[in-house]
Amino acid sequence: MNEDPREKLDYDATFSCIQCGSCLPACPTYKTMGTETQSPRGRINLVKMAAEGKITLDELKEPIDLCLGCRACERVCPTHVAYGRILESAKVAIREHEQLSPVKKFQEDLYYNQVFPKKNVMGAGTNLLWFYQKSGLRRLAEKTRLHHLLPECISTFEEILPSVTSPVRRHRRPSRIAPKHTPRFKVGFFTGCIMDALFDRINDLGMRLLAAGGCTVAAVGGQTCCGALHNHGGRTQQARELAKQNIKAFETESFDYVVNTAGGCGAMLHEYPELFADDPSWKARAEAFAARSIDISELLARLDLPLQKEIRRRVTYQPSCHLTNVQKVVDEPKQLIRSVRGIDFRELDNPDFCCGSAGIYNVVHFDESMKILDVKMADVKAHDPEIIVTTNPGCLLQMKAGIEREGLQDHVRAIHLIELLAEACGLEDGVKK
Ligand code: SF4
Ligand code: SF4
Repeated sequence: MNEDPREKLDYDATFSCIQCGSCLPACPTYKTMGTETQSPRGRINLVKMAAEGKITLDELKEPIDLCLGCRACERVCPTHVAYGRILESAKVAIREHEQLSPVKKFQEDLYYNQVFPKKNVMGAGTNLLWFYQKSGLRRLAEKTRLHHLLPECISTFEEILPSVTSPVRRHRRPSRIAPKHTPRFKVGFFTGCIMDALFDRINDLGMRLLAAGGCTVAAVGGQTCCGALHNHGGRTQQARELAKQNIKAFETESFDYVVNTAGGCGAMLHEYPELFADDPSWKARAEAFAARSIDISELLARLDLPLQKEIRRRVTYQPSCHLTNVQKVVDEPKQLIRSVRGIDFRELDNPDFCCGSAGIYNVVHFDESMKILDVKMADVKAHDPEIIVTTNPGCLLQMKAGIEREGLQDHVRAIHLIELLAEACGLEDGVKK
C-alpha cells in the first residue's frame, strides 16, 4: 500500500515552535504580503495542521511555494526551530501528493535530470548563449524589441545576463593551478552548475586568487550540480545521488578544503549529512565532506592576498541568505571588502533581508520577488553605493535586475566579491568589466 504523503511532514519538529512571533519581522514574505499564512509561524502551524489532517496538502501548497527558503527565521528563533527541515519535508509531501501533467513531468525531468547535473549539456547551452550574444542576434532582438514578447520574468533576466566566455576560452581554462608562493593549503574547487555556466570567469578568478594566496587549486573531474535546486523542490532522492557523486569526486585527493563561490551551493554542501540520516556509511562520508567544505571568503580571509591596488569606490554588501543563515559566514566577506585600500564601505541597514532571488523564485514568482527586491533596493539607495558586492550568482543577477529597475545602471554596478578582490590584486580588471 502507498504511504500517505503526509507521513513525510516533519510533524515532531513543529512542536519546537512556541508561537512567540520573534521571527515575523525577519521574514521578507511576511513584510511584503502581510498575512500570517506567509510568515514562518503561520507556515509551521499549517504544516502541523496538514499532518493532523485539519487541512489538505493542496491548501498547504501556496504558502509553502511562496516561502523563499531564506531561513532568516531560523537565525532569530529563540527555540532554534529547524524551519529548513520543516520546509523541505513539506516540499517532499506536496510533491508526492501532486498529480503532474505529462508535459510538466517531462519539463521537470528535462531540467532536473538532463540539464543541471550534466556539465556537457550546461556547456552546450552556454555555447548557444555565447553565439546568441556575439552573433548579433541579441542586438537584433533588442532593436526589434522581440525580447519584449517573452514573459516579463524571462525578459528581465535575459537583459542582465553576463557576457559568457567563448567556447575556446572555456576549453582552455586550467583545471589545476599551482600556488604563487610556498603552498599553504591544497584546495578542491567546487565549480557548480549555473555558476560555472554563466559565471565561469568568476570561478576562474577565484581559482587564481586562491593560488595568489598560496593554495594549490584543483577543480576535480566528476563533480556535478550540488543538488540544492532538487532538494528545495522536494526531489530528495535526486539530491542524494548528486551528493554522492560530489563526495566521491572530492575523495579522490586529500584536500584541506573544498571551496565554493556560491552561497546557495555552499549551504547545500554544508548540509549533505542531513540527506543521509538513514544511511550511516554515507552519512560519515558526507560529514567528512561537509567539514572540509567552505565558502571562498572564509579561506581568502585567512590568506595573505597581494592587495596592491587602491579602489576608490563607495561599496555596499548584499549577503547571500544561505551564506549567512545556513553556513553562518557573516564577517569574512565584509572583512575582505574593508581590506581593499580606498574603499568607502557602507553597510546596509537590513543586510539580512533576502533580495528575493532565492534559487528560481524570482522567475517562478516574479511579482512577489520584485516586491521584495524593491524593499532591498530602498535600503541600497539610502547608502548611495557605486558597487554592490554579492557572494552568490542568484543574488548577483537579482541585484543587477534591481539596478535596472531603479534606473541606476549609469553609476551603480553589482559584482561578486571575487571580482572586487581580483581587481585589487591586479589579476584582472574585475571592477570595470
Ligand atoms: S521565532 Fe521560532 S518559536 Fe517564535 S514563532 Fe517564530 S519559529 Fe516559532
Ligand atoms: S525561510 Fe524566509 S521567507 Fe520562508 S518563512 Fe523563513 S524568513 Fe520567511
